Amino acid sequence: MDFSERIGERFKLMNRDEIRAWQSERLAITVKQAAKSPWYKAKFAEMGLNPEDIKSCDDIKKLPLTTKEDLRLSYPDKMLAVDKSEIVRLHTSSGTTGKPTAIFHTAQDIQNWAELMARSINLSGATDKDVLQNMSGYGMFTGGLGIHFGGERLGMMMIPAGPGNTPRHLMLIRDFGVTAIHATPSYAMHVADEMISNGEDPKALGLKYAFLGAEPYTEAMRLRLQELYGFKVYNSYGLSEMNGPGVAMECTYQNGMHIWEDSYIVEVINPETLEDVPEGEIGELVLTPIRRMGMPIIRYRTRDLTRIIPGKCECGLEHRRLARFVGRSDDMLIVRGVNIFPSRIEQVLMAEEWLGGNYVLHLTREDGKMDVMTIRVELAKDAMSGSVDVLKNRKAELGRKIKDAAGFTAIIELVEPGSLPVSMGKAKRVIDERDIF
Ligand code: AMP
Ligand code: ZN
Repeated sequence: MDFSERIGERFKLMNRDEIRAWQSERLAITVKQAAKSPWYKAKFAEMGLNPEDIKSCDDIKKLPLTTKEDLRLSYPDKMLAVDKSEIVRLHTSSGTTGKPTAIFHTAQDIQNWAELMARSINLSGATDKDVLQNMSGYGMFTGGLGIHFGGERLGMMMIPAGPGNTPRHLMLIRDFGVTAIHATPSYAMHVADEMISNGEDPKALGLKYAFLGAEPYTEAMRLRLQELYGFKVYNSYGLSEMNGPGVAMECTYQNGMHIWEDSYIVEVINPETLEDVPEGEIGELVLTPIRRMGMPIIRYRTRDLTRIIPGKCECGLEHRRLARFVGRSDDMLIVRGVNIFPSRIEQVLMAEEWLGGNYVLHLTREDGKMDVMTIRVELAKDAMSGSVDVLKNRKAELGRKIKDAAGFTAIIELVEPGSLPVSMGKAKRVIDERDIF
């Protein structure tokens, strides 16, 4: 297979007209395919929808939305649209928000996914000459095999290191000429923090590319990681229901993630009215995979909140860009009546050089009293060597910045480097222990 085929170049280079024509063609095929599954067969019948009536993208609003709850109800295999013998792989979502959901793939589905992933990795400029160490958990989590097959398809040497064991990671990176890593941002930060605590410089690893995703992170976090390691961080988005990673990735302009519209039809809706938001405004991302045949999912409500960045990217690609996610609709906290995403707090913390990279937001509410948010954040390694007064002043100043950003006063607890729990997968940033009466 030549390079252009490996990354699906003919799809990558499509212009808007080509994307639209292709999407219409694929949507019609996808809906007919979906109708073969017990779930959509029943759903379409209930709605009186004839799959033959879906002829172009303009018809998409005639189709039902699919929710995570629908996926649970269809568990284990009511959305399967092919004979089981055609299925070569099963993945489940991580179950961050409840029971996992099962996703089936045919051999062709897996090929297409690998192509998308290879294309995504290559957007950064990384090629088959690069060596990619995957720090994601292998197993059901799609950040393992998803990235792995993509890297191999690109022709890279893949190191399936998995998470945990920082000394082994460092040894592999140093001994095998690793130039790129894939990890969660929180894990990449943990490795840097650990190195610094041991008096080592992450820059000396010589890494060039970091593909970071699977959880929300702020621009401040990206800048800090780039500064620490001297690599470029590319935001990487995906979810198990839509295969996994490889849905959207940043290019070298690092200004939003190109979402591969040859493979996904994108809608951004108001989660309450379910109507489209005007282009450029924040809403819930709704995706329809149009190249997956084993288990098509129609208009999937991702619960992820983002917006489309209007205009064309300087790189020339015409697949539109998603802005950094503010979080999931279910991540939003209501603290003393104020709506806030944890990312707002992260933005403030990560801009402070004297703080480390790990933090936790702890919410409590005593009987009949007001909500209390305690921000527990690690100090940077050298921050404790200065005078107590300096630290006190910094803490007070931080308190004011948080108040400005959040709209309420939080308790700040500065803790020693390395003292907060580290997650091997997605970081758990919020502990909500409020008793709701
Ligand atoms: P899973 O299917 O278990 O891998 O989880 C997918 C979810 O992880 C998505 O729906 C998002 O909420 C989150 N996620 C993945 N990548 C990113 C990213 N780059 N930024 C923010 N959230 C992300
Ligand atoms: Zn671009």
